[in-house]
Amino acid sequence: MKIAIVGAGIAGSYLGRLLEGKGIHPEVYEEGDHDTACKFRSCGWGAQSGIGGYLARAGLDLNDYLLSSMETMQFDGMVAATGLCTIDKPSLISDLRASLTVVPQRFTKEDTEAYDIVVDATGIARSLLPPCTSDLLLPTLQHRVTIEPVKENRPGAGVFGNQIPGLGYIWVFPLGQNQYHIGAGGLVFDRYEEVLEKFFSDLSVNNALTHACRCSGEIRVSSPFHSQPFTKVMRRGDGRSQQIVGVGESIGTVSPFTGEGIIYSLECAEMLADSWPDVALYTSRVLSRFAWMKKERETLDYLIAGGQKAGPRLRDRWRFYRNARRSGVRLPIQEAFRRIGSLTRWIEGEDT
Ligand SMILES: Cc1cc2nc3c(=O)[nH]c(=O)nc-3n(C[C@H](O)[C@H](O)[C@H](O)COP(=O)(O)OP(=O)(O)OC[C@H]3O[C@@H](n4cnc5c(N)ncnc54)[C@H](O)[C@@H]3O)c2cc1C
Repeated sequence: MKIAIVGAGIAGSYLGRLLEGKGIHPEVYEEGDHDTACKFRSCGWGAQSGIGGYLARAGLDLNDYLLSSMETMQFDGMVAATGLCTIDKPSLISDLRASLTVVPQRFTKEDTEAYDIVVDATGIARSLLPPCTSDLLLPTLQHRVTIEPVKENRPGAGVFGNQIPGLGYIWVFPLGQNQYHIGAGGLVFDRYEEVLEKFFSDLSVNNALTHACRCSGEIRVSSPFHSQPFTKVMRRGDGRSQQIVGVGESIGTVSPFTGEGIIYSLECAEMLADSWPDVALYTSRVLSRFAWMKKERETLDYLIAGGQKAGPRLRDRWRFYRNARRSGVRLPIQEAFRRIGSLTRWIEGEDT
């Protein structure tokens, strides 16, 4: 059986590694360096520390990629303990790719003919599967900056919904050695440049900032349910059938509230490797495991449709609380509900 994995990002390279471990040898296609300083996209590197378990299953050690532990994080002024960290994602992907046969070339639909199974691991591009039933893309802009504190206060990790006059947030993720990713993403909102400029200008009061690079990109926050179909059966020229199957962000394994996709793409790749080559089993496992993403998407749809005027419903508050817990953010429930209730701050950018 001939197998191609298209896209050697986090999902494709991890899947390749897991399949190799089962004695299955896919050919992996990667279109190559991107126009960013790190040569990779998407370049956000925040992760839950639970990512260590996935790396261990690929024979890798989280400590080799750990840049900064975000033991505490500021959420619009409130500090909470978290289980988050930043990882050197370019280096991790390079190591995952190291044991694979990677063909450095863009794969097109015409190239599918030679394979029995083609995995669409192309992330936001979703190059091979049909369009999602109901796609939702979150635009982002991110800078990598060096920050030298002029006065005492070195910025810590933080998430700021109150700076965005739409549905979204600014993030500040330390990368170690005075480096940070600072970005903004949001729905129903397009003034990232302006909002980030103001944020940088405020930061410059107590810090010396040097900008290393910036990139814009989109994150698929549709949820897997709304990113179906995950698979497609095709007929080749000689009549034999072949299967296309998606993994990772191509099929929406991203938290719709936060845009976190790294750990869920790894989990999705693991589900595909464990179900291999039963795509029906894989589909049902993905839909069941990530059913919570469908609920988060429902909240986004409600808020985008104008629900923010009425404010978040009880179920939306509960979903935000659950989301925070899932990401290892330990907000006290009452405070979380109050803050999240004042999702008005996250949603409308109002002071409460
Ligand atoms: C600015 C930004 C910040 C983010 N920050 C975070 C964060 O802090 N934490 C987090 O968990 N998630 C974050 N995300 C989301 C996360 O990066 C993605 O969800 C995750 O990387 C998805 O992994 P993937 O392997 O499915 O796709 P990708 O990582 O996008 O990999 C897809 C790969 O396919 C390749 N490719 C595409 N088309 C073709 C083709 N036709 N032929 C060959 N190769 C092809 C691409 O070059 C790429 O290498 C962020 C996203 C963005 C845009």
